[in-house]
Amino acid sequence: MGRKRIGIFSSIDAGNDAALRYLILQLNTLQSGFEFEFLTHGPEDRLILMLTRDEPLSREAVREECEGFRQRMTDRVSMLGSVFQTREAIPPDRLVVLTKATLTNNFYSLRQDGVSIIALGNWERWMAPPSILEFVLTLTVREAIATVSPRLRGSVHLGTKGCVCDVTPVLSDVRQKVMSSYLCGYCRTAMAEDGVSDLIPAVEKMLSKSWIGSADDPSSPAGVVSALGHDLFIVKGLEPTMWERLRSTLRREGAQQLVTSVSSVFVAVAVAALIVTLGLK
Ligand SMILES: [Zn+2]
Repeated sequence: MGRKRIGIFSSIDAGNDAALRYLILQLNTLQSGFEFEFLTHGPEDRLILMLTRDEPLSREAVREECEGFRQRMTDRVSMLGSVFQTREAIPPDRLVVLTKATLTNNFYSLRQDGVSIIALGNWERWMAPPSILEFVLTLTVREAIATVSPRLRGSVHLGTKGCVCDVTPVLSDVRQKVMSSYLCGYCRTAMAEDGVSDLIPAVEKMLSKSWIGSADDPSSPAGVVSALGHDLFIVKGLEPTMWERLRSTLRREGAQQLVTSVSSVFVAVAVAALIVTLGLK
């Protein structure tokens, strides 16, 4: 079986887009069962306009738009493929839309007619760690699993096991499946029964967080993302807070820089105080 292709559309207009894309595309280098690729949607697409409205959306309303979106994007990929005369003009097996939309009843994803929606509107800062980018990574892998295993497309199991297919009706439990991220026995069996047990190692490789590495190692994905301006181990949301920005800078510049800066300020204050005390100008 060739690689299963997952086409990703990002309608997230905040945060470090380069870091987000880099991390997702790193999944391609870890395994050979799935291939993730970013595609562009039209600026006035109905589904995208719906997802960027600043109001909670019911899953049913979004579902109704999925089939049309799939058709429009299939046409778009074919049209752009012929304009640029690309050889790989066939659209991917599944389309995934990343959005900041808020779904009602605490849901953060849905899938319908070959389209998956990952909605980040219900993510809250208190749910970190893991950071929102790790959250997106895990949910993207979850959609890859749904692409190849029909048995794992709907709600799979209610218990919070730390399995990527946990339903997690309680929002605070979402962090468990992102942090531990493994495939439970039930889900492994389901993949085997769907004839894709050979893809289990690829899924496990993607779910393992060890490949991210350390922000202090410039050759690791975490180090590259840090160089792109997003420290995975400090920044929780899409945008860093002022405090997170300061901590990221300190980590990058090192403690020595801090000591030097503090020393300079201390000397300047001491000199100013001396000038005032001695009545000098
Ligand atoms: Zn499971």
